[in-house]
Amino acid sequence: MINLVIFGPPGAGKGTQATNLAKAYQLIHLSTGEILRDEIAEGTETGLIAKEIIDRGELVPDDLVIELIRHQLDNNPLAKGFLFDGFPRTLPQAEALDNLLVHYGRSVSAMLSLEVEKEQLLARLINRGNSSGRSDDANRSVIENRIEVYNQKTAPLISYYSKVGKYERINGIGTVQEITDRLKAIIERLPLNKRSH
Ligand code: ADP
Repeated sequence: MINLVIFGPPGAGKGTQATNLAKAYQLIHLSTGEILRDEIAEGTETGLIAKEIIDRGELVPDDLVIELIRHQLDNNPLAKGFLFDGFPRTLPQAEALDNLLVHYGRSVSAMLSLEVEKEQLLARLINRGNSSGRSDDANRSVIENRIEVYNQKTAPLISYYSKVGKYERINGIGTVQEITDRLKAIIERLPLNKRSH
């Protein structure tokens, strides 16, 4: 059993790589960004709360995303493993994930961190904004705010996972296939005791 966190700033390519890895290792791909966008599209109460926050480039409250993840774990008791994409994004979320996984007899096997420089992130997100239809990709100051929020609230998770030897750094520059290959090479050499939990 393997439970992976794909990590990195907005525009690092988490979603694309998560899709490839989930397929390759038969993992359930849980993207909190996607789940929230679905909630918004369906006009649920959660969606209504989330929309305005996402459009500003801020983070939705921890309790809310933790509940979404809990729900997904509850609904997939037979999963071979999970691939968390865009979660955790704060220290309380990381602690909540550890606690939730303990409850299910699981643990995070590794945090795969895609590293891309800020200039490149900005260029990618502005470019994506032309086609994604995502309101939070459409405006340069919102994009810059998301990167700022990442630096302040999310980047500290690197030391959280590094302390327990689970932080894996991946160069996020290259073709999609090259980066998938780098990620797979790391997954293949994860110690069995971490993979089997
Ligand atoms: P990206 O990583 O490109 O910003 P995501 O789809 O992961 O895209 O997230 C889009 C937005 O959804 C975030 O800017 C944030 O507002 C919200 N969001 C997603 N996941 C979380 C989370 N774990 N905690 C708080 N907010 C989140």
